[in-house]
Amino acid sequence: MSSPIQVSTFIPYPSDMHREASDSEHVSRTRRGVADTSKRWPDGIVHIALDLRDNRSKALVIDALREWAHHTPALQFKVVDGKEGDIRISDDEGFQGSWSELGTGAKNTPLDEPTMHLDRNDNSAVFRTTALHEIGHALGIEHEHQHPANTINWDKDYIYKSMNDSQGWDTDTVDINMFDVHTGPDVLLSPYDTRSIMHYNIEANETIDGQAVPQNYSLSNGDQAIIRTLYTPNRFKVSDANSSANR
Ligand SMILES: [Zn+2]
Repeated sequence: MSSPIQVSTFIPYPSDMHREASDSEHVSRTRRGVADTSKRWPDGIVHIALDLRDNRSKALVIDALREWAHHTPALQFKVVDGKEGDIRISDDEGFQGSWSELGTGAKNTPLDEPTMHLDRNDNSAVFRTTALHEIGHALGIEHEHQHPANTINWDKDYIYKSMNDSQGWDTDTVDINMFDVHTGPDVLLSPYDTRSIMHYNIEANETIDGQAVPQNYSLSNGDQAIIRTLYTPNRFKVSDANSSANR
C-alpha cells in the first residue's frame, strides 16, 4: 500500500494559511500539540449533512462519527441526509481526494459546497478509516505527523516527487499537509503519538533513516484524550475559541 494516499487530506488554501508557522523550527521539542482551539465548534449541537452514494457509505461515516462522539462531552452530532449542515460530507465524484475543512473553518465554505469530501471506496475498512481521519480535521484536529515533537526524518525530495506523481500535489501542498509543524498560542497540547488516526502511515522508503509508521484504523488513546480535552464543556470561551475572523 503506497502510504499517505488513502488518508491524504487537502486543507485548501487560503483558509488555513495561518498554520504556516515560519518559526516552527525554533519551537522547543517539549512543546506539544495538534488541535487548533481557534477552530473548535462551540458547545452544543453540530449539524452534519451526509450527501453520500449509498447506505453502506452512510453507515460507515455514522459509525466513524460515533467513535469520535464517545469522547466529545460538549458536542453532539445531528446527522441528516442531504446537503444542508454545518459540516457537509460528500462523495460527489466531481471533487477529488479526501479532505476536510479544519473545524469551524467550514463556515467559510459556500453553503452549496461540501466542507468534507471522501473518495468513494469499496473497501469498507479503508473508507471508514479515511472518514475517521477527516472527521478529526472537521473537529479541529491537525495532522499528528506535523506535531512539533514528531521524530520523522522525511526524505523530502522523494516525498515532493512521489506526492506530485501520485496526487498532483505541488511543494506548497506537501509542506502544508506533511512537513509544516503546528505551533502557536491556539495549539492544544498532547504528547506526540504515532498511533493517532491523524498520523499518516509512512513507508520506510519515505524517510532517510528507514523509520516507518504503520496505518492506524481507530482512535488511539491519545486521540481520545485530546478530543475530550478540546470538547470539555466550557473548556474554551466561545469568544476566544472562535475568533477565526482574523485570518
Ligand atoms: Zn489529513
